[in-house]
Amino acid sequence: MAQMYWIVFLAALSCLLRAIDASAGDADPLYKNCVEQCEKSGCVGKRCFQHCKFSSDGKPIDGPWYLQEPLYLKWKQWDCRSDCRYHCMLAREEEREKLGEKPVKYHGKWPFQRVYGIQEPVAVALSALNLAMQFHGWVSFFILVYYKLPLKQNKITYYEYTGLWHIYGILSMNSWLWSAVFHSRDVELTEKLDYSSAVALIGFSLILSILRAFNVRDEAARVMILAPLIAFVTTHILYLNLYKFDYGLNMIVYVGMSIVQLIVWAVWAVVTHHPSRWKLWVVVVGGGLAMLLDIYDFPPYKGFVDAHALWHATTIPLTYLWWNFIRDDAEFRTSALLKKTK
Ligand SMILES: [Zn+2]
Repeated sequence: MAQMYWIVFLAALSCLLRAIDASAGDADPLYKNCVEQCEKSGCVGKRCFQHCKFSSDGKPIDGPWYLQEPLYLKWKQWDCRSDCRYHCMLAREEEREKLGEKPVKYHGKWPFQRVYGIQEPVAVALSALNLAMQFHGWVSFFILVYYKLPLKQNKITYYEYTGLWHIYGILSMNSWLWSAVFHSRDVELTEKLDYSSAVALIGFSLILSILRAFNVRDEAARVMILAPLIAFVTTHILYLNLYKFDYGLNMIVYVGMSIVQLIVWAVWAVVTHHPSRWKLWVVVVGGGLAMLLDIYDFPPYKGFVDAHALWHATTIPLTYLWWNFIRDDAEFRTSALLKKTK
């Protein structure tokens, strides 16, 4: 009997999850009807869209002959659908607000106000600021290790993690670039690029946390850690892009790798006598709290600021402090090694 209860419970849960996946907003018959009508008429209320001008046989009415190719037609139809969905969503949300109802998600996304065609302007601006912050941190690290600190005779830095932090800097900037692109226009390609870059970054920073915290300096030992993790992250990215774009699986992999590295850094921060360990502490605790923001999802305030955008805001000061720690670490290790050689 107990087994029966479990089966019913799991079935109910899976129905519920599927309902969440489909989003309450686009399941609403009024919204569905609005989109259907709009795709035929090209209008929502008094607003009509250029992209929806088709004749009865599906060919566009305007535009020169060379643009009337099937591919272009597809794009146009697709643009028409996206315009219709957006304006039907706004119309529906306005009606719901009048009735005192709370915002709901449409096709998995909260209703955002576009600005100059940019879907989530706040998230785009914050992603750009994060990118700038990463660039600033990386450049100042570069200047420190190559111009301010002494170099070995073969022009190599004393600090053993220089190359790894360079890769980290490049992967971070790449990830924020695609984050900005994805939040300005969310299509299949930009979504894949954003998710793949984020997973690549988190995978690499996991590797870095292990190498740094366990002080792995031996080449062979580094390869032993690098190879399986790189293989795992690469397989995951290929699976997402070529086989199945599984949000649930990606969330598990992403959050899992994030938690493991937070634990590695946290444990290291406790046991190490590193002079800048308090910076590590702030980043670990701040990063953990920030991650909760992304998991605790709330609708955008005034159609602009949601939990995800706030999460992007918190990473700006954390990034500043993080590169600050990395620079301290380079100085700390370099002076320790110089003392040894003397
Ligand atoms: Zn984002």
